[in-house]
Amino acid sequence: MDQQQLLHISKQHMWLPFTQMSDYEKDPLIIESGEGVHLKDIEGNEYLDAYSSLWLNVHGHRKKEIDEAIKKQLDKISHSTLLGAANVPSILLAKKIIDLAPERLTRVFYSDSGATSVEISIKMAYQYWQNVGQPHKKKFVTLRNGYHGDTVGTMSVGSIDIYHRVYNSLLFDSIVVPYPNVYHHPSDDEKVVCEQSLTELGEIFKNHHDEIAGMTVESIMQGAGGMNVMPNGYLKGVEQLCRKYNILLIVDEVATGFGRTGKMFAVEHENVQPDMMTLAKGISGGYLPIAATLTSEEIYQAFYADFKEGKTFYHGHSYTGNQLGCAAALANLEIFEKENLVKQAEEKSEWLANQLQEIAKLEHVGDVRKLGLMCGIELVKNKETKEAFPWEERVGYQATLKMRELGMLTRPLGDVIVFMPPLSATYEELAEMLTILRKGIEQVT
Ligand code: PLP
Repeated sequence: MDQQQLLHISKQHMWLPFTQMSDYEKDPLIIESGEGVHLKDIEGNEYLDAYSSLWLNVHGHRKKEIDEAIKKQLDKISHSTLLGAANVPSILLAKKIIDLAPERLTRVFYSDSGATSVEISIKMAYQYWQNVGQPHKKKFVTLRNGYHGDTVGTMSVGSIDIYHRVYNSLLFDSIVVPYPNVYHHPSDDEKVVCEQSLTELGEIFKNHHDEIAGMTVESIMQGAGGMNVMPNGYLKGVEQLCRKYNILLIVDEVATGFGRTGKMFAVEHENVQPDMMTLAKGISGGYLPIAATLTSEEIYQAFYADFKEGKTFYHGHSYTGNQLGCAAALANLEIFEKENLVKQAEEKSEWLANQLQEIAKLEHVGDVRKLGLMCGIELVKNKETKEAFPWEERVGYQATLKMRELGMLTRPLGDVIVFMPPLSATYEELAEMLTILRKGIEQVT
């Protein structure tokens, strides 16, 4: 099929996720191939993948070891159900993940996307309290602007206005507390923001702990809500409050897991031990849809009983624990070991922090936030007053269109530009990306 036909059909019959299709019609893009940190469209234009194909690619595209692991698994079997029967790669992967995860976590429940991994944590926490005889603990506490997926359950523990308000009457109520957002707080003293926020949270826990099942929180860095980084010590403080008030701590590492923040998991920055942890995106190096919800042994044991007691966890998707996905994930983790990738990410993170200081000086850059290789650059009309650009100008979107013209792909979050390259990006490739990032911002602001 030729380019024109592909383009025509994409406009005629496709409906892309989180996309206003009138935008797509004006500026369509059809990717055909990729290699390393490069993506190529059907016209042969090349782009640097500065958003890791939506925050998941780790080693670049067409990484030989992962491709080969998938092919090898194909020769055995692509998929068999995990309902009532395990499979070989899912067992091997469970062991690898548990060896890497915080020690409190001993069990792996598979699924196939970030949203499903969080959805599972919600249902699991809800049922856990029933199984241990405290059915009144039903509510979830979440942070303002949290994003945990787009299913009905995960939207209920998320609170990004623009995505969620349309569906509000469809969702269950959660207790939403302010995010400890240092840049947008009246006091921009990190310590003050941390203490105030924890005090507020402590009050809520004190008054409502009898009805709270769990607190769902993105790990150290909030992604879709604007790439916001928690003040030092905040997540540790949340952990302590959860333990004090008998509330399950559910940490969402869908975006932050697998080296993205300069640690294998972001909880390691503060030595936090969650009761549940959700994983997706980078788990397969960004190759195939696979996800996991990790839980503590205590939670697992609350479900372990004679069938007649009705404590079984009633959840499972058709493709849960897919063999090809698990094989890709195993290969992914082997590369982490072989290439000492977390250490490399840590070093690149330090280098990037220096380079981004130049971007931070630009006239319309209000704030640069970063943890490891996860970065957000907030564009503002007025640097002094932090006044935002008018919403309808879509400055962030325009900047990313300009970057695309210049040969780099990313997606904005309002006026926050996401910069999240694959961990494999070389220093030269990172420098190339930063040049385009800078030009893109300068040319539209
Ligand atoms: N949780 C977090 C923190 C995320 O960033 C995302 C996606 O961006 C999700 C959950 C949902 O993941 P998925 O898009 O794979 O459903």
